[in-house]
Amino acid sequence: MKPFKPYDITLEPCPDWWKVRLPEIAEELSKIRKGRVETIVESKNIQAVFYNEKQFPVPDTRWTIAASSSDPNRYKTSGYDPQCIMLIAGVHGAEAEGVITILNLISLLETGKDLREKERPELCRLLQQYRLVMIPCCNPDGRAISPDHMRGCPMEEFHRISQGVWADGSTITWAESKQFYPLPLDKVSFPGGYPNGEGYNIMHDCAPGKLCTEEAAAILSLAEKCQPDLFLNLHSQERESLLCRPGLFNYAENIRRGNELAAACYRALCAAGFPALEPKGSSQALNLNTAVVMLSGAQAMTYESTTDSGLSFDGLLESHYVMLETVLKAGLQEPFAPRNKR
Ligand SMILES: [Zn+2]
Repeated sequence: MKPFKPYDITLEPCPDWWKVRLPEIAEELSKIRKGRVETIVESKNIQAVFYNEKQFPVPDTRWTIAASSSDPNRYKTSGYDPQCIMLIAGVHGAEAEGVITILNLISLLETGKDLREKERPELCRLLQQYRLVMIPCCNPDGRAISPDHMRGCPMEEFHRISQGVWADGSTITWAESKQFYPLPLDKVSFPGGYPNGEGYNIMHDCAPGKLCTEEAAAILSLAEKCQPDLFLNLHSQERESLLCRPGLFNYAENIRRGNELAAACYRALCAAGFPALEPKGSSQALNLNTAVVMLSGAQAMTYESTTDSGLSFDGLLESHYVMLETVLKAGLQEPFAPRNKR
């Protein structure tokens, strides 16, 4: 693997609690006492964290066949209550907002206070209503070479940090980066935080029969094992925050329910005064979320947090809290994934 140095840019210093560097993430995970930590990719040192675990007996069936059976619920051997939420962050290494959010959720669950020493009792109460499976940093390779945040980052630099820079110094654009799999690392001066160390965009490593990354294989394997009801994939973008509607390669009931959740999130972010994009249209993209739907029938959604939009570091975190409180509250009223309504 060709080693790349972290992207050279001077941005505003982040507060002490904004711990998104790999040693800082490891230190936070080492403090976990109430949850359980499991390394799911040894070679990349990727951990999953579990709270409110239940035993997972080996299912009698797989979702891919149970969904066509007379009783799709047979897939769920561990029972429906409480529902399971699988929360992953940092699939794109430059997008640190989800990483810091998961570390703050862990702190809330461990101590009742987040990394800022602030309480958030309603969020704590809601988190405790679910089985939780969280992967704080899915792409350590990308994280290692990315800045701590992208607040105040000029747009051109945003793309160079995320998608990379060709050897001739020109920017690799967002859509252009998806023309290569893997990104040819011998032709770049900086690969961006998007791909892993081998140049693969983990988010799109979802083709049946041919996974290219250990990261995607581990995430999907865990999803099948834990049978999440909600798979929430935390990303970031330069625009305002958006809980994206579920992808269209999906079950009609998941799309209906997911669209409701996206709309509720938009209303809640607006009501709380956070910059938000109204969810419109739906994507036909094939990505990890699609694979999780196929594996488990889960409601699989991507949250795109803003990296800036004038928010402070506190605002970036607290807007995630608002999104999560909204979604978690809604999940208690109606299940995330109506698996029995196929
Ligand atoms: Zn992303």
